[in-house]
Amino acid sequence: MATFADPKIVPAETARSAAREAAQQHKLIVVSNRLPVTLAHEGENWIAKPSSGGLATAMGPILKGSGGLWIGWPGDDGTLDPAERDRILHSGSEGYRYVAAELEPGKAQAFYEGYANQTVWPLFHYFPTRMNFTVESWDAYKSGNHAFCRAVSRVSNGEDLIWIHDYHLMLLPDCLREQTRNAKIGFFLHIPFPSSEVFAMLPKREAVLKGLLGADLIAFHTHLYLQHFRASLLRVLGIESQIDSLEYDGRTIHLEVLPIGIAPEELGGLIDHGPETAKYLQELRQRYKGQQIMIAVDRLDYTKGIPNRMRTIRRLLTQHTELREKIVLIQVAVPSREGIGDYQALRSELNETVGEINGELATPHWTPIVYLRQGVSRQELAALYSLADIAWVTPLRDGLNLVAKEYCACKPDGNGVLVLSEFAGAAAEMGEALLVNPYNEDNVAETILRALKMDTAERQARLIPMRERVTRNNVFVWANRFLEKLMASGQPREVAPALNFTELQKAYDRATRRILIFDYDGTLVPIADDPTWTRPSDELLRNLSRLTSDPANVVAVVTGRRARDMDVWLGHINNLYLGAEHGLMVHTPGEPGWHTLKGMNPDLQWKDKIRPVLQHFVDRAPGSFIEEKQFSLVWHYRRVEAEFGSWLARELLALLENLLADTDARPLHGKKIVEVKSSWANKGQFASWLLDRGGRAEFALGIGDDATDEDMFARLNEAGAFTVHVGHSQSNAHFRLHHRVGIDKLLADFLQ
Ligand code: UDP
Repeated sequence: MATFADPKIVPAETARSAAREAAQQHKLIVVSNRLPVTLAHEGENWIAKPSSGGLATAMGPILKGSGGLWIGWPGDDGTLDPAERDRILHSGSEGYRYVAAELEPGKAQAFYEGYANQTVWPLFHYFPTRMNFTVESWDAYKSGNHAFCRAVSRVSNGEDLIWIHDYHLMLLPDCLREQTRNAKIGFFLHIPFPSSEVFAMLPKREAVLKGLLGADLIAFHTHLYLQHFRASLLRVLGIESQIDSLEYDGRTIHLEVLPIGIAPEELGGLIDHGPETAKYLQELRQRYKGQQIMIAVDRLDYTKGIPNRMRTIRRLLTQHTELREKIVLIQVAVPSREGIGDYQALRSELNETVGEINGELATPHWTPIVYLRQGVSRQELAALYSLADIAWVTPLRDGLNLVAKEYCACKPDGNGVLVLSEFAGAAAEMGEALLVNPYNEDNVAETILRALKMDTAERQARLIPMRERVTRNNVFVWANRFLEKLMASGQPREVAPALNFTELQKAYDRATRRILIFDYDGTLVPIADDPTWTRPSDELLRNLSRLTSDPANVVAVVTGRRARDMDVWLGHINNLYLGAEHGLMVHTPGEPGWHTLKGMNPDLQWKDKIRPVLQHFVDRAPGSFIEEKQFSLVWHYRRVEAEFGSWLARELLALLENLLADTDARPLHGKKIVEVKSSWANKGQFASWLLDRGGRAEFALGIGDDATDEDMFARLNEAGAFTVHVGHSQSNAHFRLHHRVGIDKLLADFLQ
């Protein structure tokens, strides 16, 4: 078996590998639904049977070096005594520890076969009509993820590298994040991430995305999956991201594209050095002399397009009778998820279809489809790949597809043809293959025909570059890159501490003169789809009236809104200072109407130039609209489809930067708005003005939620105030409130 240090498969530059570094500096904890061993009955006893595969091969040496461990479900039925189970697992491990996740007895099946495999699996593979969802299956998914979380917490010191694999565990990153801010948590999705249009159909979609966002690094097989994930974040949670990162919960989350590889020597090595494989191959060559062989290897899964393939070969043999007795399809179909109805139905369908085709077309000397509904040994598999003239790899949708890569690894002379579905993630890296749309069965048949006729020179010209790539971008390089990225990520940013209500209350109670400044939208009232809907609640009005009735208090609400909105909603509260248009307009209690801050009379000629530009964007984006304020113009796009709105907003911002270059107005990107206003009109000016008026306050407080509140925080920080940011963004505020609901509690507490 290949080892990590094997120079044949680990290029020199990766020898000084991230994996080694990880091994020296951190403990690595790998978490996957299944352990790479399965507990199975052998007579009276249980034994640990290792499973093969690239992931186990790649992770083994890294785990050994780091004193790491692998957590997963070992496949027992819950009747084994835990100590005995650990002893057996330990006997099956190779220099590192396996740890069993303790799923509640009887729940393992509901966890695996429920939400994971009947909701997420079909939807993420673009089979929404096969999606099944029940509240019970969601509960089992949640409790399964919590069970894994407990298993990790038991063995982790909170400073480890934690690498979570796949769609069964999408809630785990966030469960773990709640317990530790210092561990570096990475997540790799082995299946496709569907387009946001499809993802939006997922029941519990918000919880799934928030679960993933507990990670420091989230990686996918292809660029397209990453883009779909970003679009889904925007569409479902309204979270904007960069191509390789996003800001969330005071952390930077890195996004990566890392297609998994294989351990090329694991199968490829058997061709040259495996006596058993050589023997199988010789027998097979003898058996199929004079015939062209096509190999297909799949789990028995409806995503793999096996019935389509059967229909295609029937079509080929019916339309091209000269191919009869000349070609054979060997289909290895490994049983899978047999507890689920769709899988049972597929099995029956294939039994019938293959039986029918063979019954109709076979001759005494020839059977067109050799159908193995069972797994084969690695030695047999290597021999089959090596024998085959064509690998027929046509899943309807596949996260990556390792079979395509394994075939290349088993063709040292490059004399073979890979026919590959364009809907397999591997197609993104294997452009030399004959790429097909598996839904177009005529086209697949033509492509197979072309492959059967292809000369050796073309076969080699196509396959050899893929084989080289498969060898280079192997699973060790993949694991290395992931760990390298994981180690570099998760440097926690300086995050303001959570607001301590008790301390704040004490300071409030001690003071005899106080200044309190509140932002309006997103702080005192929730953000609404339409800016005219955010009326203050009766409770808020009562609280503000009571706060302002204390003669020790100077209370202000400052907003980007128009003065007349503030008049309607808050104008009747005695002693309340109001700031509108980002503080440029001011209402002082006891004085009539509004005035601009002293000395500020902006030139507004730019408005005539900008208004038609915004109108053009309104025409392009139905649902968006312009709000005209005295000193600014705002384009609102909250009701525009999220991705389109965000794209247009970026285009508009770039355009405005140019158009406004020689004016003192600037564009500002707020929450689903683009606003153009005079650059010096900001809430910092308002805070300064109020501090001057308020005299010598012993207590000052400023609370806000978006970018326009940062100027206020900066000014208030200079005055030694309590500044509080509501939400998860980067902020100058000294304290943080995770949710604006806390404001209601805060106001109520002050008034006790
Ligand atoms: N495989 C196996 N036993 C077999 C036939 C195949 O373990 O009898 C392996 C095969 O070598 C490959 C994996 O199963 O590594 C299938 O991976 P792929 O990415 O193609 O599909 P998945 O099963 O992950 O959907």
